[in-house]
Order: sequence, then structure tokens, then C-alpha cells
Amino acid sequence: MTTTHVDGYLRHIMAVCAEDRSGSVADYIPELARVDPDGYGLSLCVHDGHVYSEGDGVVGFTIQSISKALTYALLLTRIGRDEVDAKIGVEPSGEAFNEISVDDNRRPKNPMINAGAIMATSLLLPPVRDVDQATVDRVYGELVEFYSACAGRRLTLDEDVYRSEAQTGSRNRAIAYMLDSFGVLDTDPEAALDLYYRQCSLLVTTVDLSVIGATFANGGLNPRTGRQVLAQEVAQRVLSVMTTCGMYDGAGDWVSSVGLPAKSGVGGGILAILPGQLGIGVYSPRLDRHGNSVRGIDTCRHLSTDLGLHMFNLT
Ligand code: GLU
Repeated sequence: MTTTHVDGYLRHIMAVCAEDRSGSVADYIPELARVDPDGYGLSLCVHDGHVYSEGDGVVGFTIQSISKALTYALLLTRIGRDEVDAKIGVEPSGEAFNEISVDDNRRPKNPMINAGAIMATSLLLPPVRDVDQATVDRVYGELVEFYSACAGRRLTLDEDVYRSEAQTGSRNRAIAYMLDSFGVLDTDPEAALDLYYRQCSLLVTTVDLSVIGATFANGGLNPRTGRQVLAQEVAQRVLSVMTTCGMYDGAGDWVSSVGLPAKSGVGGGILAILPGQLGIGVYSPRLDRHGNSVRGIDTCRHLSTDLGLHMFNLT
């Protein structure tokens, strides 16, 4: 397909999916409820780094749970797979993302649910009970550095969302303290939570998500900057866990119908990846009952069917 054909095709599927106005914008904090419910962007980054983008491709929204895939990658890079596996499982939980679910060894079931993500941020911090603010700031700085290297540009924080997440995060606090009560958290729960709220509140665009996706698709090589930002085996592990656990408790349906490793966030974003080929970023803030973007899912379904992107496509 030529560039004009691709642009035309993307506009076409967006026009079809835009008709669906079902679902509702996340409203657990006022900042998220304030977004334009009709916002809609779609970007595709292919293996040579070219980005096709339509609609609100440069509108910023908070990355929310999509961050879980990136922090998991950073943690694997930092401490290695064995140490991560000893603390966080890789089994789908079949439960809601904010469910307090751990396995028989009191490990969070996977890194894509809140319990696993908070465990992941805790493992980025020093294993001491008293973590000062300067240390949290330093680790956060390294985290932003890594996310930015994947996106190929400097990402920034939505301060209002961050403040609100922190003020209203009773459930996440409950999860962190439950892990702490099990004796599996080596650091200060508040520091782990602070890092988690900050990572969720980073602003991205669909262009960013598509470039992050292409970086994972390329085995860790960012096709726009030419930088190897993570190891191939880390990318492979993250893609595997995204496939089984990335779409909240709607993961099975997603894998059957779309067939791409993906991660969604309640900000309305979806990151989907075709290994070896491309990254997809889509944004539309109305969510279904699982917390996935309604139009985002529909858009990915169209892309997968029309372009034969299902990873088990046998035709
Ligand atoms: N900040 C959100 C929370 O932990 C992330 C939710 C999500 O995107 O799933 O409640």
C-alpha cells in the first residue's frame, strides 16, 4: 500500500468505528472525566520508523495501565528474569485489574494487574523500609528516561492526574499494604505507591504508543532513534505477558479476535504490537466494562482482520 492508501484506509476505519459512542469515560478521578469523550486518534509505526497517524494523534492523555508493560520491561532489565519471576507471576488472573489477587506463594499473579505493577515499582526501589523523597525522585527519573527512550521523545507528567491518583488511591494503598502484610514487599509501601501513581500519570500520544510498540516489535531497537533501549529477550518476555494478561479480564476474547500482544489503560489508550512488524497506538476514552477503550478495541479488530495482523494468521 502507498502512504496515501494507508492514510485513506486509516481514515476509513476510524469513520466506521467513530459511530460507536457506547461506553463511558473513566471517572474515578475528576481529571479523567474532563477529557473530550469523542477524542479519537490512531497511529501506526512500521519497522523503518515511519509513523502513519490520523485523528487526535498528538493529543496527550495519561498512559495509565499501559505503563505496567514498560515498568515490567525496565525491571527485567534491571534485576533479571529469575529475580523478577520469584516476586511476580506470569499467569492471567481472570479478575479485575484492581483485584487483590496473589498466587499460593503470595506473588501477584502477573505484572499487568495493579498488585503486580505495585510490586514491580517496589522492586525498582532500594530494599529498605525508609526511602527518602530524593531516592523516589531519582528512580522516577530513571523510569521516565526509559519510557522516553522507548517513545523517542521526552515524556512529561500530568501533575493534576498524579495528585488526584495519590489522593484517591485507597484501593491501591490497600493492595500495597496487603503485599506488605504478606512480608513480600522489601521497600516502603508509600514509596512504591508514589512511583506507581507517577508512572500512570505520564502523558503520551498515540504517536508515542506506536513508537513504543514498534520498539518492542523490533526486539528493543527504537526504529526512530536507532537506539537499542531494551534487550531482545526482555521484549520477548513482555510481549508474551501482554498477550495473556494485557487486556484486563477481557484478554481471552482479545487474543482470539485481534491476536496481538497489547496493553490498555483507563485513560483510553491501547498499545498493540505485531512482533517483528509494527506498533499501534489508539486512543478513545470511552471504556467498556473491563476498562478497555470501546473504539480502541473495535479499531484494532478492523486493522487485524483487514490487514491480516492476527499473530496466528494462517492465510
Ligand atoms: N491509575 C490507575 C489505577 O491504578 C490505573 C488504572 C488502569 O489504567 O487500569 O487505579
